[in-house]
Amino acid sequence: MAIRLGCIADDFTGATDLANNLVRAGMRAVQLIDVPDADDERAVRQAADADAVVIALKSRTVPAADAVAASLRALAWLRAQGAEQIYFKYCSTFDSTPAGNIGPVTEALMDALGTDFTVATPAFPDNGRTVFKGHLFVGDVLLGESGMRHHPLTPMTDSNLVSVLGAQTARTVGLIDHRAVADGPDAILARAGELRADGVGIAVVDGVSNDDLVRLGAAVAGLPLVTAGSGLAIGLPANWGISPTPAAAELPPPTGRRAILSGSVSTATNGQVQAFLRTGRPAFPVDPLRVAAGDDVAGEAVAFAARQPADEPVLVYSTASPDTVRAVQARLGAAEAGDLVERTLARVARGLVEHGVRQLVVAGGETSGAVVQALGITGLRIGPQIDPGVPWCAAVLPGGEPLHIALKSGNFGGPDFFTASFALLGLLDGADR
Ligand code: ADP
Repeated sequence: MAIRLGCIADDFTGATDLANNLVRAGMRAVQLIDVPDADDERAVRQAADADAVVIALKSRTVPAADAVAASLRALAWLRAQGAEQIYFKYCSTFDSTPAGNIGPVTEALMDALGTDFTVATPAFPDNGRTVFKGHLFVGDVLLGESGMRHHPLTPMTDSNLVSVLGAQTARTVGLIDHRAVADGPDAILARAGELRADGVGIAVVDGVSNDDLVRLGAAVAGLPLVTAGSGLAIGLPANWGISPTPAAAELPPPTGRRAILSGSVSTATNGQVQAFLRTGRPAFPVDPLRVAAGDDVAGEAVAFAARQPADEPVLVYSTASPDTVRAVQARLGAAEAGDLVERTLARVARGLVEHGVRQLVVAGGETSGAVVQALGITGLRIGPQIDPGVPWCAAVLPGGEPLHIALKSGNFGGPDFFTASFALLGLLDGADR
């Protein structure tokens, strides 16, 4: 079956965020890590079993020409899979500079799709992002007065999205304001018609409530391209007669052994590791200084895991207190220590999978990237949420075996996240949650 919605996200966590919202709105969603190679049949098969596919790029802060090239490759792949509408997803704080990349990517997608009109809205009221008279609010303050004004790569000092976007594109930027949005899809379409007649190519759209996004969603049903944060996801599935259902988050039944790989040193992850150790379940610490001294710590960790009862989840962790991490960094250098640990945990991941692990929780953003790459994972079918923003996913390994995987960045998740993850998959009873 052809996919309905084809999404291009400008970073990985943003892609997960969008995919997660689409699943909660009733669409079966797959997240792909970068544009699949032409001969990647695994990605084609995963996409064929989804209503929406989100391709995660790393295009938010690269040079605009590179962001455009990557986005056009993503577009070509999504169209080849039959995508009926394209969704360009950016950050809900509209992270960009006068050089781009939101404007140039939007323009290139419009050209490639042969369309002269699209909308732009980062509104996501559930996350405190609202747009009023074209001005973006982050919580209770204007974007330009929020912490974003000091962002190292994309400082946002202007809250007026019409002027922010206008500076990034040759197209004329206009506004569909809250009055039209409040009046419903017909009023939005009428206003869009007026703007179009005036030569406007991109309309920033106000949104202060979920209802606004639902009304906007209905109004954009006929547009080949929409651009937004992840909020608009709640308004689109109805255009295909899709409504929220837990079935959208269903994954194939999990198989095999269970393991946790933790390379995050955040406060939350330290607490989660401590909580897991208190359950008395098997755990193996990875000491970067031993790795640096040449010990085969990855091999030891895999052998340790293989010796444990097959029904026990095993934790392999480099997670340590801030003092310990500082001491390691002082000896090895911070970047070198990070690389060393990531490479080690990636090797452990491969070893665990070779020994039959088929349910894997990974803690740490960079660690997750290293593990996904080491395992040759190119696509994730998005399943049920463990904690807000962290879903279980089903991947297919290069050999065709299934792997259930959850990727948690540092500070996400409650103290019992590790055991709760497996409880959600249904193989641990909830007693120790
Ligand atoms: P988070 O999402 O919490 O930021 P990341 O995985 O993105 O987690 O980053 C943690 C970084 O710290 C990684 O580069 C990891 O390799 C490194 N690291 C993990 N454990 C240790 C340790 N014991 N000593 C030094 N660095 C470590």
